[in-house]
Amino acid sequence: MRTMPLLPLLLDTPVAEWNLPPDQPWREKQIRAWILQRFVSSYDEMTDLSAPQRSSLASRFRLRAAEPARIQGSEDTTRKFLWKLGDSSFVESVLIPANLGKSGNRSTRLTLCVSSQVGCAYGCRFCASGLDGWRRNLTAAEIVGQVLEAARIAGRRPDNVVFMGMGEPLANLPNLLSAIDLLISPAGIGMGARHVTISTSGLAPQIEELAHHPLQFRLALSLHAASDEIRDKIMPVNRRYPLDQLLAACDTFIQARKKMIFFEYILLAGINDTPEQARLLAQHAKRLHAKVNLIPYNKVEGLPYERPEEDAIHLFCRTLLHAGVRATVRREKGNDIDAACGQLRLREEKTAPPAIRIES
Ligand code: SF4
Repeated sequence: MRTMPLLPLLLDTPVAEWNLPPDQPWREKQIRAWILQRFVSSYDEMTDLSAPQRSSLASRFRLRAAEPARIQGSEDTTRKFLWKLGDSSFVESVLIPANLGKSGNRSTRLTLCVSSQVGCAYGCRFCASGLDGWRRNLTAAEIVGQVLEAARIAGRRPDNVVFMGMGEPLANLPNLLSAIDLLISPAGIGMGARHVTISTSGLAPQIEELAHHPLQFRLALSLHAASDEIRDKIMPVNRRYPLDQLLAACDTFIQARKKMIFFEYILLAGINDTPEQARLLAQHAKRLHAKVNLIPYNKVEGLPYERPEEDAIHLFCRTLLHAGVRATVRREKGNDIDAACGQLRLREEKTAPPAIRIES
């Protein structure tokens, strides 16, 4: 039986090692287009390559970086994917449709939420992804592979990609940037830069580093508390990069790039949904001209946090709006399919080796 190395994947390997004929420079472009724009799942589908070329590539490089282990469909048509990687790790993505326009002239926008790491070391108290610690970073091909597989299953490319799945994307910066390059470059998947959003729990040095990076994307800060006192309790990363330092890094980012940032704020009943937190959040948002997305918490099995009552959610949002902050309440879709990221994987990986957690 032929043995095939699980890694490297074709997209993670320098083109010089693809062993393409030197007198056929166009082959690289052809192969990339099959993978990144036509979402093929086997080399046999690359019909403009010769049979020997296809089998030479197939004998050396696994083509698919992620394969579906489980797909859960929600009543609201959200789909959650559990991907199996080459080393039998699991990560998750969620495909969220949104209807645009009036009935009769309706189109559907697809947003794919992707993972950047297997597990997460940052241990936010309310999050299922951090429950089991960090195992490893995803390669660029494994990040993009989630988009390619979801596109194949959906029958088209997602309109938006958001790095809000498992893992802290800025803790995997080189692979994240290579993946975004593949997502937005015309020779890659060709998405518009404003359709790719990185969400961070607050790695201030990396935010400053990105301020001057030429690659285009949108930045969302997962703030989830507006004072150090509360943030320290629910996000250990805050003890390493407290709010003063974090918001100063965001200032640098905004000044350098002239781009708006977003605050993501998960509302946890009795923890961060008080009028005082709303007033402080409004101050931060006004200072940075940030738009706030409020996300009522999705219950995670085994964790003690609850979603606030509807009245408390609306009061919190109204406080922001009255202060002149742009704020919306984002209803998490897929409540019936373990929508909080990490839950599906936790169920699948009962016998995992010990993982790493950063407590700072
Ligand atoms: S919220 Fe994000 S950074 Fe925090 S533990 Fe979960 S995946 Fe990691």
